[in-house]
Formats: sequence, structure tokens, C-alpha cells
Amino acid sequence: MPSPTDRPFSAATRRSDLDALSSGVVDLLVVGGGITGSGIARDAAMRGLTTALVDAGDFGHGTSSRSSCLVHGGLRYLEHGWLSLVFESSRERAVLLRIAPHLVRPARFLFPVHSSGRVGRVTLAAGLWLYDTLSLFRNVGRHRSMGRKAVSRLEPALRNQDLRGGATYWDAQCDDARLTLATVRSAQRHGARVASYVAVKSFEKAGGRTRGAQVEDCLTGERRTLHAHVVVNATGPWTDAVRRLDEPGAPLLRPTKGAHLAVPRRRIGNSAALTLTSPLDGRVIFILPWGDLSVVGTTDTDVAAVEEEPLADSDDVTYLLRSANAFFPDARLGLGDVVSAWAGFRPLLAAPGATSTAAVPREHRVVESASGLMTVAGGKLTTYRSMAAEVVDRVARRLRRLDGRAVPPRARTDLEPLPGGEVADLDVLVRDLVQEGLDDRLAQALVGRYGTEAVGIANLALREPALGRALVAGHPVIAAEVVHQARREMAMTVADVLVRRTHLFHRHAGQAVEAAPTVAQLLAEELGWSASSVKCQIRAYGEMAAEMRRAITPARPA
Ligand SMILES: Cc1cc2nc3c(=O)[nH]c(=O)nc-3n(C[C@H](O)[C@H](O)[C@H](O)COP(=O)(O)OP(=O)(O)OC[C@H]3O[C@@H](n4cnc5c(N)ncnc54)[C@H](O)[C@@H]3O)c2cc1C
Repeated sequence: MPSPTDRPFSAATRRSDLDALSSGVVDLLVVGGGITGSGIARDAAMRGLTTALVDAGDFGHGTSSRSSCLVHGGLRYLEHGWLSLVFESSRERAVLLRIAPHLVRPARFLFPVHSSGRVGRVTLAAGLWLYDTLSLFRNVGRHRSMGRKAVSRLEPALRNQDLRGGATYWDAQCDDARLTLATVRSAQRHGARVASYVAVKSFEKAGGRTRGAQVEDCLTGERRTLHAHVVVNATGPWTDAVRRLDEPGAPLLRPTKGAHLAVPRRRIGNSAALTLTSPLDGRVIFILPWGDLSVVGTTDTDVAAVEEEPLADSDDVTYLLRSANAFFPDARLGLGDVVSAWAGFRPLLAAPGATSTAAVPREHRVVESASGLMTVAGGKLTTYRSMAAEVVDRVARRLRRLDGRAVPPRARTDLEPLPGGEVADLDVLVRDLVQEGLDDRLAQALVGRYGTEAVGIANLALREPALGRALVAGHPVIAAEVVHQARREMAMTVADVLVRRTHLFHRHAGQAVEAAPTVAQLLAEELGWSASSVKCQIRAYGEMAAEMRRAITPARPA
């Protein structure tokens, strides 16, 4: 089978990019490889700016792999009157469905109305009419109001008691971590120099102006200085911590913690995605289909400090299980049903007047410090592309002031597909893979993760049957993916593979700990690890899985 032309994105390109960056000056250094920083790097590289991107961890390991995975207009935002945000988000939903069809898929949502709920049928119908209008009626489908019986037919396991009716509407579900990764890879294809596990420790100044950063390679401890005309801080919930490396100042953010959990879908019995208002506090929550799992989320609680690895705790899990049980009482979900749970920090803008976390605006701000450090704060996954364009407009204007160069025209980031997204019909890809001898479920899964690049992985597996083996029995994730991820997706650790690139950590009830030795061995062959590094990686992964379980288990009374 022909494989699409592709370029390496690996430990080797990471090293050569870091070496190149240590000896030159780039136009733009982006700090933070979540969706925001990746989008900025892609946009800048597409406009022809020499660009560098570093992240202290794996790409997307911050908030951008811990979201509800919705590319959505934000129905809930209508309650707060954030109409321009809904308008912008609806436009972005259409763009992302187009440029990454394998990673962003249309999803039909059911919003049931119970008489004990906060939202009535008339309010819902009016809201959904406005929702469709703000997408200029160009959403995948239009909303449909329905009576009690129709809702019950659609979701037979849903609580029937005091059910009044409801409505269906359309949004999209995505793979947030892989969307981020695809965005970084697109930046690299356009010439950006990119490295994960490289943390900014301080800023490099010349004449009081920020002109680069001192960075540390978190895998080797090596320090380097990177020089840039403009530096952008796109570090999500760590925005204020990184700003403080430049100058003291009032915080821009009011971060909140959001947790999710996954349970087997058959335990809830839902077929569609559901939008619900929790009877515990009236907040909007979702129950989302995720293969044979259902994801329940999310919480929204203020936090005292932004840690490196936020964890869902037993209070989060109790809230989510009780909320889900209120709508699916026969499920009687308990802690034993939880396949996995996780949390992330929302990088929300500080809003002094906001009475609750839900009322904190989901918009963004771009600010420049006295030294010229540019910071982008706030925003959503859905709107990353338009935020990026705004930031790069500013960077381009700064560069013109610096050396008089022309401001490049805006890049068509809305037209060029992300890697793997160069396909109109995913079913054709699946059919091709099945014809080559792949099992249908595996073909679907590979196309869902890699789009057109699934062909390359299938070729690896077909050439070397050992690479066609599943990493964990019963899950359509094969060894060839690890090789591909080391060569083409800069996988540097076992967690990079199992948490963010395949999601086995969250999809498997034992967090796929049994796959860690195979993954470590495959990575060792690709990255030249020693036997002790292999052991270290396996141990670190096992500890991470155990920590997740510990965090969600209620403490025993002393
Ligand atoms: C629970 C939850 C659910 C959400 N659901 C949705 C949703 O469904 N749809 C939606 O549109 N949005 C959603 N969001 C919001 C969305 O996920 C975030 O707005 C978005 O992911 C933020 O991306 P970011 O790149 O700004 O931050 P991050 O993804 O956190 O990236 C910041 C990066 O900066 C790096 N960094 C930090 N310090 C340094 C340093 N010193 N040097 C180098 N790198 C550094 C970190 O390692 C990190 O990778 C949700 C958020 C949460 C928490």
C-alpha cells in the first residue's frame, strides 16, 4: 500500500532542532505545547516566521489532554449571554471538522428535560434555536425538540420519572491530545523547530527586553539558551507562574479543576451523548460515549495551587457518580465501576465579579509585559485557531517594528488539513485497510487515531507480524503504533504512548500496566534506552497508575 509522504518527528529531530536553536535566533519562541502554543507555532510557521516551540512535558500533557473533548459552540454559554463566543466557536467547529476529520467527529447530543431540572422545554427550545442560528444553520444537523416518549425511545435507560421531553442537537467530539499533537506536527512540517520535555527556567533579556529563554532539557538536565526576537507565553494554567519569571504582577488567571471519569458504557446504557444539569448543584454535566466506555464530566472547583499533575479525587468521583445515577438510577454506579478518572486545570481568566466558577468567562486575553513578553491567557480548545491568528498578528506587527519587514498575510490554517486529515471519506480508508487483511475493528481504530497515516502503521504490521499484536488483549491498539509514535510522533516515554497517544491508560481498567514492558522494550529499540532506563520507565508508569487509584479511593476513617 502506498504510504503518504511524511517526515520524521522523533527524539532525533528533537535533538537536531535543539542544537540548531542553540546557535541561532528565531523570530518567535513559543513556550507551551498545549493546543494554544501548538496553534500559535503552526500559524507562525505557515506565515513564514522562523519559529520554535518547547514544552516542559509531552505535547498536550497539561490541560489539552484532559478536556471533555468537545469541539462545541458551547450551549451552556448562552445562559451567560456569551453570544460572540458561541458564534466564534461554532465557526471553529466547522473548520476543525474539515481539517481534522479523523480526530473531530460530529456527535448528536440529547438534552432531556425533567420537571425537577433547571432548564424547561421552552427555554431549551429557544436556546437551541439561537444555537443553530449562531452557527448560521451550517452545523452538521439542526436541533429537534421531542416529547417524553421520543426521548425514552432514544435513551430507554434514562430516568422516566418526571421526564417532560427534550431535544437533540449537534456538536463534535474530538481526541484532544492527538489534535494537539497533529497541530505541533503541522507546525514542524512548516519548518518550526520543536522539542518536548524542555522547560523554560528563566528569560534571557537584552536592554530590558525579553530576547529568549534559558531552558532545561528535562530528560538529560542539560541547560541551553534559546534566542528569539519575540517570546510568547502559552502555558495554560501555568501562565502566571511563567509570567513571574519575567516580572511580578497580579494574576491573570483564576484556574479551576475539572475532573472526568470513565465507566463501561453498558453499565449506564446510554447510546448518545447527553447534556444534563446535575441535581446536586444545577451545573451542566455531560455523559459522553467513548467507544465501549461512557465518560462522565465534569466538575468545576476553585483551586488553591496549580500542581504539575492534577488528579481526580474521591470527592470529584462521588459528585460525578451521584450525578450520573440521578439520571440513570438502574445503573447504581459505584467506585468499582470506575475504569479511570482524571482531572485538568482550566486556564480561566480572573473575573473579579464572577459569582461562581461557571460564570467565569471562557474568553482569552493577550497581554504584553514591559519587557515585551507576550502572554495569551484563557480560551478554549475549540477556539485555539482563532486565538493563534490573533497572537501571530501581534507578533508580526512587533517584528515589523523591530526590523521593518513586511507583515505577512494571514495563513490559511482553516484550509490546510492537519497530518492524517487529508481525506474526504474515512470509510474508504477503513475499507482499504480491511482489504489488506486488517480486522475491521482495528482498521476503524487506526483510521480514527491516524487518518491517512494509518496506512503506514498497517504496512509495519503487515511486514512484521509481531508488530500486529495487540498491546493489551481486547483493545485495538497494536505494537506497530509504538514504533510509529517513536518515529513520527516524538513519543519519548511509556506514558506518552499509553496515556496520550493511545489512551489505553484511561480505556483499560488496569490502566494497561501489563503493556508497559512491551512498550518500554519497543521504545528502547527506537530510542536506544539502556536496560535500567527500561526498568525505570516501567516503574514510573506503574506508580502513576497506582497514584490515580489511590487518589479516587476515599480515605478510611482513622
Ligand atoms: C475539565 C476540562 C474540560 C474542558 N473541556 C473543554 C471542551 O470540551 N472543549 C473546549 O473547547 N475546551 C475545554 N476545556 C478547555 C481547554 O481544554 C483548555 O482551554 C485548553 O486545553 C488549554 O490549552 P493550553 O495550551 O492553553 O494549556 P495546556 O494544554 O495546559 O498547555 C500548557 C503547556 O505549557 C507547558 N508549560 C508550563 N510551564 C512551562 C515552562 N516553564 N516551560 C515550558 N512549558 C511549560 C505545560 O507543560 C503544558 O503542556 C476544558 C478544560 C478542562 C480543565
